[in-house]
Amino acid sequence: MFDNLSDKLDKAFHILKGHGKITEVNVAETLKEVRRALLDADVNFKIAKDFTTKVKEKAIGQNVLTTLQPGQLLVKIVKDELTELMGGDVAGINLSGNPTVILMSGLQGSGKTTFSGKLANYLQTKKNKKPLLVACDIYRPAAIQQLYVVGDSIAVEVYSEPENKNPVEIAQNAIKHAKANGFNVVIVDTAGRLAVDEAMMTEISNVHKAIQPHETLFVVDSMTGQDAVNTAKAFNDRLNFDGVILTKLDGDTRGGAAISIKSVVNKPIKFVGTGEKMDAIDVFYPSRMAERILG
Ligand code: GDP
Repeated sequence: MFDNLSDKLDKAFHILKGHGKITEVNVAETLKEVRRALLDADVNFKIAKDFTTKVKEKAIGQNVLTTLQPGQLLVKIVKDELTELMGGDVAGINLSGNPTVILMSGLQGSGKTTFSGKLANYLQTKKNKKPLLVACDIYRPAAIQQLYVVGDSIAVEVYSEPENKNPVEIAQNAIKHAKANGFNVVIVDTAGRLAVDEAMMTEISNVHKAIQPHETLFVVDSMTGQDAVNTAKAFNDRLNFDGVILTKLDGDTRGGAAISIKSVVNKPIKFVGTGEKMDAIDVFYPSRMAERILG
């Protein structure tokens, strides 16, 4: 799907570049191709339409047709607009607070536990922090076990209370434990379900209210297309989260999720997951993502 998008745009721009003199019809046709490619990559229809309208206005405003290399200018406009659509600049992570409390949210299978480990590893090795991982999944003992495996692999301590069925208490006790033991970042991994449901939302809202995290991050599988947007909206309505983590960008992924999520919830994408290993984490660069989408 991802290749599909860049391939299509390549083709469209190739057609455009092939014409000695570019006419308004050529531009309109290329933009139609851009829009179709965005739709194919699962970008929401309205967003894709608005996008091409904006690009067209810019192209007219900059007199694309009268310039020496109209194709290149149009490509630049499309790239710049895509970058803007995905947030423009790199969004940092708020590491204020001692400890900094980070709450992870998202559906089961989105990559929350894996990302919690990656973030702990990143903060430990790149930002000289002492993180504590917290297992707040009270339903699946295997999820707690998984966090221990992750923690072990990066030499980060994991806090859990397997007998306690109250995630609010577990999270609060973990923060106390962190304060008492010199941890300066607390990463709280929460229980996700396979689909959005009220019980999960109430539970994570309660944890959120009780611990007032410095950063609430929403983790989403970039392979889930339009569903990713609906899930992001549901979590944002309840948590008003601070940023998005786009996982599984190493797969047959669609750039569309990045574009649509940012447009719909207007929250920055902060990191991306690019594999199962603990070092497969990257800061999200909107411009690089635009380049990647366009090929
Ligand atoms: P959780 O249920 O949200 O905690 O999800 P997990 O962290 O257990 O991840 C679900 C599956 O996705 C696991 O098999 C992970 O190894 C895999 N996974 C997580 N992040 C990535 C990623 O960035 N790329 C790939 N290829 N797989 C990932």
